Amino acid sequence: MTRRRRIYEGKAKVLFEGPEPGTLVQYFKDDATAFNNQKRGTITGKGVLNNRISEYLMVRLGEIGVPTHFVRRLNMREQLVREVEIIPIELVVRNVAAGSLTKRFGIPEGTALPRSIVEYYYKSDELGDPMVSEEHITAFGWATPPDLDDMMSLSLRINDYLTGLFLGIGLRLVDFKLEFGRLWDNEDMRIVLADEISPDNCRLWDVKTNEKLDKDRFRQDLGKVEEAYQEVARRLGILPEGGPGDLKGPKVMQ
Ligand code: UDP
Repeated sequence: MTRRRRIYEGKAKVLFEGPEPGTLVQYFKDDATAFNNQKRGTITGKGVLNNRISEYLMVRLGEIGVPTHFVRRLNMREQLVREVEIIPIELVVRNVAAGSLTKRFGIPEGTALPRSIVEYYYKSDELGDPMVSEEHITAFGWATPPDLDDMMSLSLRINDYLTGLFLGIGLRLVDFKLEFGRLWDNEDMRIVLADEISPDNCRLWDVKTNEKLDKDRFRQDLGKVEEAYQEVARRLGILPEGGPGDLKGPKVMQ
């Protein structure tokens, strides 16, 4: 971990200089934080699982034509990604009421939303990621209207695809957070999906029991946190069951 130049250290990941220009190595930690850093802890094995889960989902999304920063997984905790200019906006896509939405609007947790709702938050630890509108984003120059159009349409496609993928393994995709970056190719710029997609930034509930299989187990002290991340990986078919080499595809639920 110390051989490369550290570019950035976040709450759950470290970014190192990559082997070639324009690449970075994304290292997944076991550290977990919640409530804007007020709650901190460790989820043993989370980094390894999130590295695999995010790899799996980014590859599947790439196959349907969603551009992503992902290049390839390097080892248990690291993946090679393209260096992008991160747009300082978090897009949250919601299908079912949970978390801050239930508090803000007094809607009971678990209420199916009339349609998928996309929200924007300005990425700032100091300010506690305030919710912002398109007006703020374009007026302050964080993203242009065409950038926002791309981010919005990609988010809805990602939501449709992942909703189906998770439903196939008995999980409801309640909500999730996405980050995008600008990838430059000479004069041309493309918006690509960046960061990670894992139970750290998705809410996933068992379809039959409504059991939470995501970071809410840590946020709400529900116990069996490690097991929840393992269960998501197991259902995706990316957790070796009979030891390494026993990697099967997703288990489709009847
Ligand atoms: N989320 C995230 N990072 C954040 C805030 C939210 O990954 O800084 C994810 C969170 O895991 C959930 C979704 O975005 O899947 C919606 O989160 P919400 O706004 O309800 O906030 P929370 O209840 O997590 O504070």
